[in-house]
Amino acid sequence: MKAIAVHPGTPNSMHLRDVPEPRVDDVPDGRGVLVQVLRVGVDGTDKEINAAEYGQAPDGQEYLITGHEGLGRVVEVGSDVPSTIRPGALVVSTVRRPGMSIFDRIGLQDMTTDDVYYERGINLCHGYLAEYYVEDAQYVVPLPESLNEVGVLLEPLTVAEKAIHQAFEIQRRLKVWQPRRAAVLGSGTIGLLTTLALRLRGIEVAVFSLREPPYLNSDLIEEVGGTYLSTKQTPLAAGARKHGPFDIIIEATGFSPLVFEAAEALGKNGVLVLVSVTGGDRKAEVNADMINQGFVLGNKVMVGSVNASPEDFASGRDDLVKAQAFYPGWLDKLLTTPVRGLENYEEMLRHLTENTDAIKVYVDVASSNGRSA
Ligand code: BGC
Ligand code: ZN
Repeated sequence: MKAIAVHPGTPNSMHLRDVPEPRVDDVPDGRGVLVQVLRVGVDGTDKEINAAEYGQAPDGQEYLITGHEGLGRVVEVGSDVPSTIRPGALVVSTVRRPGMSIFDRIGLQDMTTDDVYYERGINLCHGYLAEYYVEDAQYVVPLPESLNEVGVLLEPLTVAEKAIHQAFEIQRRLKVWQPRRAAVLGSGTIGLLTTLALRLRGIEVAVFSLREPPYLNSDLIEEVGGTYLSTKQTPLAAGARKHGPFDIIIEATGFSPLVFEAAEALGKNGVLVLVSVTGGDRKAEVNADMINQGFVLGNKVMVGSVNASPEDFASGRDDLVKAQAFYPGWLDKLLTTPVRGLENYEEMLRHLTENTDAIKVYVDVASSNGRSA
C-alpha cells in the first residue's frame, strides 16, 4: 500500500513509498483493529519532521510514516475487541504509546517521565498517512457518524482539552475556582480550538494574535463569542487591563518570549498553560523581578502541557458534537485546505510551509464511504 514517509535526520526527505499492508493480527491477543484511513491532518510537527528537526524512525528501520491526526473507518476487528468498536465505525486513534514510567503504566503516557517517548507518526512509531493502519483497541476512540467530516480535528482539539483539564486539576487547590476570563495566545488551529473549548465551558475569551483583523481566523473567534485582538493594536498588557484579569491564559503561538509577557499579564490566583513546542534556541530578556513578585504575591501557576490522555480524547469528541449543536458549520470552516490523495504530498507540504491563509491542511486519503480519494 501507499504511505507518506520521511528519512528522519535527512532534511526534505518526504516521499511516497510502498509499504507492507498491516493485518488485524499484527496486534496480539485478538485486540487488533484494522482501520482504513479517510483523512489525516498535518501541522507544525510534521513540518519540523520533514525539516529533520524532530522525529525518529522505528527501531531498525530507516523510514518513518508520518501523520498523527488520523480519521478512519474500521474494516476488521480481532476476536477480543470490545463491541463499541465494530467494522464500519468511524475512529480516531491516540498518538502516544506507553513507555516504562509509573505514569505510562497507569495509562497516562502523556505524563511520561521517560526520556524516550513513543508517538505514532512522530517518534519511533509509524503514523497514519497511509491507506491502512492497525492499532490495539485500547488506543482507538470511536466517533459518531455525525463527525465524519470534522473528526480529523479531534487530535488537535485534545491538545486544548488537556491544557484546560490540567488547569482545572491544578486549580482545585483554590476550592472555589470559577474562571470567568481567559486569554488565548495564538489564533492558529490550536488557538481556535482552545477558544472553542473555553467558550463551550462558558468562559469569556480574548484571543491575542499578530495579524490585524478582519480575516477568517478573527471572524471564527468572533463567531464563537470570543474577542479577537491584534497585538499590533493591543499589546498583551493593555489587553489584560481591558479584558482581564485573566484567570487562565493558554499560550499557543510558538513564539516563546510571549510566555514571559503572559506571565506578567496573568491575574491573581491565575494559571498559565504552555502548549507550544519550540525547538529553537531563542533567548529573551524578561522582567524577572516583576514576574517573580507577581507570581509570589498572586499565588500564580505556570504549567506545561503536551499530548493528551484518553480522557482528553473522550471530552474532545463530546466537544466536537457540542460544537456542531452550538455553532453549526463552524468546525467545517477550519478545514480550509484539503489535499487529494497521498500522492499529492508535495502540495501538502507547500500548503503547510507557504500558505499563510490555511487553517487546517489535511489529506483526503479516501472518501468517507471508503473509496480512494
Ligand atoms: C502532537 C502531540 C505530540 C506533540 C509532541 C504535537 O504536534 O499533536 O500529540 O505529543 O506534537 O511530539
Ligand atoms: Zn500535532
